[in-house]
Amino acid sequence: MGSELLERVLWLLKRNPQVKTVDLTGGAPELHPEFRDFVESVRSLGRHVMDRCNLTILFEPGFDDLPEFFAAHQVEVIASLPCYTAENVDQQRGRRVFDRSVRALQRLNAVGYGQSDSGLDLQLVYNPVGAFLPHAQAELESKYREELYRLFGIQFNQLFTITNMPITRYADALRRHGEYDAYLQTLVDSFNPATLSELMCRSLVSVGYDGTLFDCDFNQALKLPVPSLHRSIYEIEDLGKLSSAAIQTGDHCFGCTAGSGSSCGGSIT
Ligand code: SF4
Repeated sequence: MGSELLERVLWLLKRNPQVKTVDLTGGAPELHPEFRDFVESVRSLGRHVMDRCNLTILFEPGFDDLPEFFAAHQVEVIASLPCYTAENVDQQRGRRVFDRSVRALQRLNAVGYGQSDSGLDLQLVYNPVGAFLPHAQAELESKYREELYRLFGIQFNQLFTITNMPITRYADALRRHGEYDAYLQTLVDSFNPATLSELMCRSLVSVGYDGTLFDCDFNQALKLPVPSLHRSIYEIEDLGKLSSAAIQTGDHCFGCTAGSGSSCGGSIT
């Protein structure tokens, strides 16, 4: 995402005061050379910033002061931690990822993240290690809270449980193991109409690296742009026009509507 595009995002934010939050994602958004300038610009417009943080980035050269930077700008940190045991995390994310994630969370705690009265929110994200729906969010959150504090002294604000979406690499892995059809059927059989009113595609817009607009980051991963006339950030001035536009859907949407529902902020119902 180049400078011109970032400028356009800021320009749109100024013209669309109804947009309250900018959610930065993409693997390791902190690696973008203009990451810090962009966060400061968004904050100067009075908007909330969320950073989907790859915790291991804190141990890369030049990034060890990220916790202080986040705290100075009150960035909400969202960090994936698929389990509170090293075995399960390393199995899903790679060797020693759990150890580095724990140390990163401790660094964030040390500058005030996850403390109830600091105003510095640290959210953790759980997704199942397998082709099944997440456990109930509230129950799992209390287990995470208990175990992470007991074992490592780690505190956090909320746990978001997110359903594994049957797309891209995960879909390929399911197919390789002959599990794709059964998993999709599980999602279809678990359809919960109560999730529909709160689906994240109803209230957010996702911006691709070239300015293409998507209803959510899953559609972005699948290269399915918004079906409205305004498909690029350069073709729209009033983002409100997207709120009444049709949403691009597909089989993968059953991942958002299964069970308690799933969104970038965890379960829906
Ligand atoms: S995957 Fe489908 S239901 Fe889920 S947020 Fe995207 S468009 Fe909406």
